[in-house]
Amino acid sequence: MHCPFCRAIDTKVIDSRLVGEGYQVRRRRECLDCEERFTTYERAELSLPTIIKNDGTRVPFNEEKLRAGLQRALEKRPVSAEQVEIAISHLFHRVRASGEREVPSRTLGDWVMEELRELDQVAYVRFASVYRSFQDINEFRDEIARLEKNPVE
Ligand SMILES: [Zn+2]
Repeated sequence: MHCPFCRAIDTKVIDSRLVGEGYQVRRRRECLDCEERFTTYERAELSLPTIIKNDGTRVPFNEEKLRAGLQRALEKRPVSAEQVEIAISHLFHRVRASGEREVPSRTLGDWVMEELRELDQVAYVRFASVYRSFQDINEFRDEIARLEKNPVE
């Protein structure tokens, strides 16, 4: 792999380990020329279903968009990047295990909420407020009441 800093043609792997519950490989690389270090992630590329948006249009499953959505909800919350990657791995599994060629964005949103609910309840409520477009404070209150009634173990 080329060096992203100086564009040297060769870089060497100095560390390699499994992350995301074993579904990803994280590699630390070092440039032989400028000695800068950087990280790469590797994961099996499998076909993922198409997402059906609420207006009926179809878009390809977009991992970056999914990660950005999770990160937005988790901003300044005590959740590590590793935990986010694990949540994303769970979501990938779930999307594939559904066996569907097309998944409604609504279903995907519900799965994201379930992951967030286990990660961080503040992030969960944040995501829910955007995703379900809470109209007023009462809807917030109801959602929080639901959380209190069914706490995550
Ligand atoms: Zn370099």
